[in-house]
Amino acid sequence: MYIPYSRQDINEDDIAAVVSVLKSDFITQGPVIPQFEKSVCAYTGAAEAVAVSSGTAALHIACLALGIGKGDIVWTTPISFVASANCAVYCGADVDFVDVDPQTANIDINALVEKLAHAEENNHLPKALVIVHYSGRACDMLAISTLARKFGIKIIEDAAHALGAEYPHGGMVGNGLHSDMTMLSFHPVKSVTTGEGGVLVTNNTALAKTLRKLRSHGITRETANFIDPAQGDWYYEMQELGYHYRLTDIQAALGKSQMNRLQSFIDRRRAVAEKYETLLKDDHLLLPPPDHKSAWHLYPIQLLADAKIDRKALFDCLRTNGIGVNVHYMPIHLQPFYRQRGFKSGDYPMSELFYSRTLSIPIFPALDDEKQNYICLKIKEALG
Ligand SMILES: *Cc1c(COP(=O)(O)O)cnc(C)c1O
Repeated sequence: MYIPYSRQDINEDDIAAVVSVLKSDFITQGPVIPQFEKSVCAYTGAAEAVAVSSGTAALHIACLALGIGKGDIVWTTPISFVASANCAVYCGADVDFVDVDPQTANIDINALVEKLAHAEENNHLPKALVIVHYSGRACDMLAISTLARKFGIKIIEDAAHALGAEYPHGGMVGNGLHSDMTMLSFHPVKSVTTGEGGVLVTNNTALAKTLRKLRSHGITRETANFIDPAQGDWYYEMQELGYHYRLTDIQAALGKSQMNRLQSFIDRRRAVAEKYETLLKDDHLLLPPPDHKSAWHLYPIQLLADAKIDRKALFDCLRTNGIGVNVHYMPIHLQPFYRQRGFKSGDYPMSELFYSRTLSIPIFPALDDEKQNYICLKIKEALG
């Protein structure tokens, strides 16, 4: 038996939806992509959705659409997947980090306030923030957007973990009310999957138009948007340098079918988290704070210093017992690439503390009681 930390949930309806596209006239750039985008809008409440080939591609064109380039600075948090920072580097911008709250690994608002004040003094304000809703727990976007607005800073939400979550102050993550754009990922471990895929949701129609162009080589085929007169029906214009970041109809069909079960997936993840809260109560463990609004993409437990076993030993022990634990994440600034750009150990102490003692234990919709009991038993045994 091997229990992964997360996995996709594919049923016969999903398979039938994909097969039906394979038998249709269009396997890419057909009618299903806009239908899938609509289902994401309907769920999140955003006005516009632009589906792309991955969450990373989404972050890249989000930065481009905000005009981020050489000489600009983008801030994110160290406890995230590297793509949250790389997107700015793709555009030639510099990346800097804001430390996290060591309980949730989300951005520490006080640290943000301090860093902004300092940056303003030094005339070194960022052009944009990439706000990560770590583990599916939404950040306080009211506080963050108020701060950003005060300094004229753009916001991209990295909600790769948080499709299905609600903000602490209410509203679905991705509703477009607190940021310029929100990125969602459809990698198989995320809330719903398209194999590989991502989307940007926004309430800004002009931005959505730019994003649609950027995902397709910078090309527009809409007569109304042409710069020069159309020369015939074949005519299209490449107006800026874009990329080939499109999703296929095959993937969109899977995504659209998965969206029908998104709420049930989130409900299951929340039930799994609640069960962990009761079963794993232990003086040597710091469990994630309860949050019935989280999408619970991850369930990261922290091993306190007085435990008789350290994080690495617990990790190895659980892996040996067939439990696919993982570590999310080694702080981005400690990756060799970012060390080469001047970051070093000690730069973000709370992120480094979190990393040193955290472990993601399995959480996904099909994780049944029996497996969950087994996981808890093995953790308890290891803690002694
Ligand atoms: C998965 C993930 C991404 C990237 O998404 P892909 O679809 O894999 O490109 C970005 N940020 C975070 C926090 C993620 O977990």
